[in-house]
Order: sequence, then C-alpha cells, then structure tokens
Amino acid sequence: MPRHIVCLTFDFDTQSGFIARGMTTPTPLSRGEFGLVGARRILALLGSLGLRATWFIPGFTIESHPHACEAVVREGHEVAHHSWAHVPPAEQTRAEEEADLVRANEAIARLTGRTARGYRSPSWDLSENTVDLLLAHGLVYDSSLMGADYWPYRARRGDRAELGKPFGFGTETPLIEMPISWSLDDFPHFEFVRTPTVVLPGLQSARTVMESWLDEFRYMQKTVDWGVLTYTMHPYVIGRGYRMLAFEQLVANLQAAGAVFMTMEEAAAEARERMFAA
Ligand SMILES: [Zn+2]
Repeated sequence: MPRHIVCLTFDFDTQSGFIARGMTTPTPLSRGEFGLVGARRILALLGSLGLRATWFIPGFTIESHPHACEAVVREGHEVAHHSWAHVPPAEQTRAEEEADLVRANEAIARLTGRTARGYRSPSWDLSENTVDLLLAHGLVYDSSLMGADYWPYRARRGDRAELGKPFGFGTETPLIEMPISWSLDDFPHFEFVRTPTVVLPGLQSARTVMESWLDEFRYMQKTVDWGVLTYTMHPYVIGRGYRMLAFEQLVANLQAAGAVFMTMEEAAAEARERMFAA
C-alpha cells in the first residue's frame, strides 16, 4: 500500500528572528508580533480539519507569548525545538550553542511537560557541533538539512569539505534527518525584505506557490511508494488573509489526493522503523 505522508510545520518565531538580526525598531518587531494573529488563524483551521502539526517554537516565543504557546499545546500539536534566541548555530561557539539549546529545552519542558524530540535550526545553518549536541540532549530528529526530499535519512557527523579535495563523508549517526528546502518554505516566496545591502522581493502569488507545493506532493506520489513531504511556514508569513485562503485550498487538495498528515515526531518514528528494519 503506497503511503504518502505530509508534515505541516510552523516556525513560531514571532519577534525572535528580527531581534537576532538586530532589527529592533518598532515596525520589524510588529511584523513578528503579527505571528500571534497568524497562529490563531492556523490553529482554527487545523482544528476545524482535525489535523495535527509540528510547531518549532523558540524559547523566546514561549517566554514572551505564553498564552499563544499554551494554545498550541492545548490543540494537541507537537512542540519542537527552534533554539531560544533564534541565532544560527553556525554563528555560535560550541558552549554558546549548548547553553542556548539547554535553555530552550527547559522552556519547552515547562510548557509541555517534556523536552523536545525534534530540532530545527534558526535560518537552517547547523554548526559542526550541532548533531553531537542534539544527540547528547536526547533529540531524536533534526529538520534543517537538504540532502533529500521525500526520504528521511541519518544525519552524519564529521563530513570533510576542503577546497581542491574530494568530498569526505562522515559517519552516520542515530539522529533522523527530516529534510527541508527553501522552495518549500513560505518565507522566501512571500516576504519582502530590504536591508542596506540586499532586497528580497518576495510577495509572490499565494495560489501559484501553493500549486507548486501541491506538485511537489504529486511528484512524490508518482515516484515513491513511501515518503514524507515537509512544508515549512511561519505564522507571521502564511497568516496573511490571501495566503491563508491559498493554504486552505492546498490542504484540501492534499486531503483529496490521499495525503496522510502527521506530526514530524510521528513521521520520524515511522521513518526510523523503516530505516532500521531494512
Ligand atoms: Zn525560525
């Protein structure tokens, strides 16, 4: 029996990503604050459909917006790890990264009663220490790498990349990688960003983007008997009205096409069984 899994994932950053980039004037902060509106809309939609999703919530959001995060838990969604302060591990020392990881896990434990099973790095940029730290702190899966699309795989430690030399594969670890892609992330498609050095235009047609996202599911169905497709969204991005309508249509189309929706923790557990049974 073919089985095509979809993980709807929401990175509930609110203001954290703007603060981590030094954008602390009122307007960027309010842009993050809009995530509270978006989260209510997403929770209402998922609740009406009986779907459970995975919310990667920075410790910052848990401690700044406790009621919004309690609503996520109350609705039965998975809460996963997305750092405390939304600083990419690639920019941190090992000690800084571990301290932030522990602090965020403590916030999640206070919110949900248990530490996180899954991790997604801010801005999808791991350090060479991340895989080891995640394993040391009891994480079961990561969702920050792009080495596959429909097949989870085992994250490696110790890959070697040096200019002028062939690539050196490190060793596989027990950490399950649930791969992602910028093409399946709402942020680059939709967000207009202007800094002194860069302009990201974003602001694409929501219906067009959602049609591409549905095609990704169709291609998975066409090419593999079993697979997991992960969509990444941010409440302050997807939560705008016309995007919500397009997202609602995507979910309806996925349901009609036979998608099996589950949390990432559940999908990782299923992937792990398949990997280690084979
Ligand atoms: Zn984020």
